[in-house]
Amino acid sequence: MAAEAFDVVILGTGQAGKPLALALANAGWKTAIVERDLVGGTCINYGCTPTKTMVASARVAYLARRGADYGVNAGPISVDMSRVIARGLRFAM
Ligand SMILES: Cc1cc2nc3c(=O)[nH]c(=O)nc-3n(C[C@H](O)[C@H](O)[C@H](O)COP(=O)(O)OP(=O)(O)OC[C@H]3O[C@@H](n4cnc5c(N)ncnc54)[C@H](O)[C@@H]3O)c2cc1C
Repeated sequence: MAAEAFDVVILGTGQAGKPLALALANAGWKTAIVERDLVGGTCINYGCTPTKTMVASARVAYLARRGADYGVNAGPISVDMSRVIARGLRFAM
């Protein structure tokens, strides 16, 4: 494979790498970005967004379980973690 020259090579596609790569490319720099794991980095894949959607689901489960205290009978409450995770991934895209 032929070698290719770049003005800048950025390691990682997290909150730092992606906007930096876009800014440099838009400024005319020949830019490469390298990701060793998941595109989007911590915030999108493990951190901020999944955490917030899981906290929201936990809050709903908590309120549903306390329904009877408020005179609301909701029946047995269970948490489907695969759906909780799928919801988080929808928001992360
Ligand atoms: C559970 C959790 C919840 C969080 N909640 C919030 C929040 O609500 N609000 C908030 O502002 N921040 C939050 N954060 C912090 C936020 O996720 C980080 O501040 C942010 O992701 C940092 O961005 P970054 O680009 O520096 O690093 P990262 O997002 O970690 O990206 C680094 C990327 O570089 C890649 N990489 C590393 N080394 C190499 C290499 N040698 N070659 C190629 N690729 C490489 C990694 O695979 C990764 O994709 C949270 C973090 C966690 C863990």
